[in-house]
Amino acid sequence: MKVAIYSNNGESSLEVASSLKKGIDQSDKLSIDGLNPEIVISVGGDGTLLSAFHHYQDISDKIRMVGIHTGHLGFYTDWRDYEVKQLVDSLEHDNGQSVTYPLLDIKVNYSGSSPSDYGLALNESTIKQISGSMVADVYIKNQFFESFRGDGLCVSTPSGSTAYNKSVGGAIINPSLSAIQIAEISSINNRVFRTLGSPLIIAPDEWVKIAPKTTHKTILTCDQQDLSTRVVESVEYRISKRKLAFAQYRHTQFWQRVANSFINEVD
Ligand code: NAP
Ligand code: MN
Repeated sequence: MKVAIYSNNGESSLEVASSLKKGIDQSDKLSIDGLNPEIVISVGGDGTLLSAFHHYQDISDKIRMVGIHTGHLGFYTDWRDYEVKQLVDSLEHDNGQSVTYPLLDIKVNYSGSSPSDYGLALNESTIKQISGSMVADVYIKNQFFESFRGDGLCVSTPSGSTAYNKSVGGAIINPSLSAIQIAEISSINNRVFRTLGSPLIIAPDEWVKIAPKTTHKTILTCDQQDLSTRVVESVEYRISKRKLAFAQYRHTQFWQRVANSFINEVD
């Protein structure tokens, strides 16, 4: 089985990556292949796993991810840095077991004849304006829904619901559901401006269109990156037909993972 190691540059991550590489080199069932891997192991934090996903985005339907965390407990990273041996052993006994997480399709339309941009997010996409308030019309399934005024909007996947979405008061969604959530980032609500004011979750056959009404530049993010800083005409979001697979060598129940990340004291 072909394995790629994607590490951040932290000292402890590089150490883990090097002992992992050693373990893989010593195994006759495993080999390192950074170009066409079947398994991608990220070594670092959730941010590292997001970078690894985007690095292998074009072949993301052919890979399964594994996350080793070298810092604090991560959400996508459930192997500890001292478990390299167990992980190599699990890789050697792999029988294709996996769990898949929904992804978010992003289509960015510009005015005139500029071609659209496309993005794929594992966590979320946000559309926001740094200075002044962002005014944007929100459509659900081509029906006008509301006119938003505030800092911005956060559109997240279920597995991204524990990230930015959580900070802005969104709900946590089990990734076994295909759904996307739209959460407001500091909306202005008074007698003049009115939005729903609560996060909303749409179904897989629905889509959302956000059309900024300002001539100011909006910032459009896709996970940890900027997708566009140009003047955007509209952004369309829907649940992708693609999903991201994680090799599931052991099972941690989703809500246990949530409790471990946010509530329980861990060593
Ligand atoms: P970062 O500033 O290190 O990320 C912020 C925190 O979010 C880190 O603790 C990160 O864990 C954690 N995180 C990432 N994905 C998560 C997930 N699905 N569930 C729970 N926690 C998660 O930047 P980054 O590492 O490049 O990550 C980018 C992400 O940061 C974005 O996708 C966005 O979700 C999040 N973010 C949050 C806010 C906010 O809450 N106000 C603002 C901007 C961005 P690690 O330390 O393990 O990386
Ligand atoms: Mn990070």
